[in-house]
Amino acid sequence: MLGQLEVSNLVVRYGPVEAVRDLSFSAEPGQVVALIGANGAGKSTTLKAIMGLCERQQGRVRVDGDDVRARPGAALAHGVALSPEGRRMFARMTVQENLLMGAYSGQGQRPQKQVLEQVYQYFPRLKERRKQMAGSLSGGEQQMAAIGRALMAQPRILMLDEPSLGIAPIIVADIARIIREINEDTGVTVVLVEQNAQMALQLASRGYVLESGRIELAGTGEELLANPEVRKAYLGN
Ligand code: ATP
Repeated sequence: MLGQLEVSNLVVRYGPVEAVRDLSFSAEPGQVVALIGANGAGKSTTLKAIMGLCERQQGRVRVDGDDVRARPGAALAHGVALSPEGRRMFARMTVQENLLMGAYSGQGQRPQKQVLEQVYQYFPRLKERRKQMAGSLSGGEQQMAAIGRALMAQPRILMLDEPSLGIAPIIVADIARIIREINEDTGVTVVLVEQNAQMALQLASRGYVLESGRIELAGTGEELLANPEVRKAYLGN
């Protein structure tokens, strides 16, 4: 089975700021892995570095054993798709046009129309709104569209940057359920970056806690949910 991600000894600096310091983690094919941590811990930077969207000062990224170069498009060519934080939809294009943009960058085997139908099955609300301008979608709907757009690339590894950010709790539960469904149906590996540690660790079979650009703790989702330090720092109890 394909979809193994291995990040080793990653270092990313923005001028004097060391955003990521010697960070290593991996995800096995079909696994859901969570990266949790406070604001500024380096979660988004890690995903950007994997996608080749920022420079890496050190470190390696491997997908299914192959080295992925630090260039825009390189990870995509290896089957890695990112649903970015802040969603980045093209506001003056329709929902469907936005989704189709995701397909052009992918290496998928299945016909575009079939993948689009699958995305609409996961997110029926996007189908209802397919002709609407993406800029007029609600926050939760834009989040769904961003995940859908990443899926259009038919990735082996789907990376989601804070899918719960700014979303009503009831919709967070919906999004979590759909992420699980996508993972179970398609076998895609999921790397989930979240400040909502509860949601992420419930979904993930493995979790990593980031602090100041380093991995401070790792374990199964259940272990981390039960860990007193994690409970105090990230779960508020
Ligand atoms: P959040 O949950 O708030 O998005 P994060 O864990 O995703 O946080 P990053 O966005 O990766 O954290 O940021 C890590 C550190 O790098 C922070 O100190 C941030 O200020 C800094 N940083 C991020 N992007 C840049 C940039 N383009 N230039 C300079 N510093 C940056």
